[in-house]
Amino acid sequence: MATVLAITNQKGGVGKTTTSVNLAASLAATKRRVLLIDLDPQGNATMGSGVDKNDLEQSVYDVLVDGAAIAAIVKPAPESGFSVLPANQDLTAAEVELINEIGREFRLKEALAAVLADYDYILIDCPPSLNMLTVNALAAADGVIIPMQCEYYALEGLSALLNTVNRVKQLINPDLEIEGILRTMYDGRNSLTNHVTEDLRRHFGDQLYSTVIPRNVRLAEAPSHGLPVLYYDKQSKGALAYLALAGELLRRAAQKQGDMENQQHDP
Ligand code: ADP
Ligand code: MG
Repeated sequence: MATVLAITNQKGGVGKTTTSVNLAASLAATKRRVLLIDLDPQGNATMGSGVDKNDLEQSVYDVLVDGAAIAAIVKPAPESGFSVLPANQDLTAAEVELINEIGREFRLKEALAAVLADYDYILIDCPPSLNMLTVNALAAADGVIIPMQCEYYALEGLSALLNTVNRVKQLINPDLEIEGILRTMYDGRNSLTNHVTEDLRRHFGDQLYSTVIPRNVRLAEAPSHGLPVLYYDKQSKGALAYLALAGELLRRAAQKQGDMENQQHDP
């Protein structure tokens, strides 16, 4: 059964989409079966995976609003071996169209039930706001990955996000966890970065990924070629960092699994 991870932060430009596409490609490179869901009407994860958002017959909009089956809509990301449930500007209307629907928070979760057995990881690239689309992602997810830049106001924005995660956990998804906090566009020479890192470690302990994603121009260039950085410049610092992140994520998952099995064996 797939582990479903929402990549979210209501701030724009923090590296959500970059993380979604490149983590999807890195996990696929380790032979995991991966579905990337684009839940942002900007369609950047769709384009960055090499799927043309202007050439879609159906998209995640049809899943949320009309209950269309995910399996009929997913497209293969050319070259990189994962699947994409694409999005385009149609998705902007979904929020309004869902307003009067009962169970609107659960549209994505319900649709995902039919494909959970087909994947090892399902990653959801969230829009830059805490709207009904993001709530659908949080309702469907086992865990949340929060990418953030180590800058002064970053922590302030984080508390609104953590409140939303806690509300969703209390009201509609008791199993939701913070999977990890990811430092993006990282520059260790900047002393503010080190302060923010100390704060994050104090607040989040082990939930802070030890992998950091450096600022790397290859990561910014790759989307215009419709490629994850791994297939654009596999030697780049960005490519190596996202491979390392996939490794850390898989090690944590294996550890969790091991802990659970030990608990079952010795009461
Ligand atoms: P979000 O999805 O949170 O809005 P993006 O992933 O789209 O953020 O990133 C915002 C911009 O920063 C994009 O132009 C992207 O290419 C660039 N970018 C993201 N991460 C990095 C990085 N580690 N190094 C350099 N540029 C980056
Ligand atoms: Mg984005």
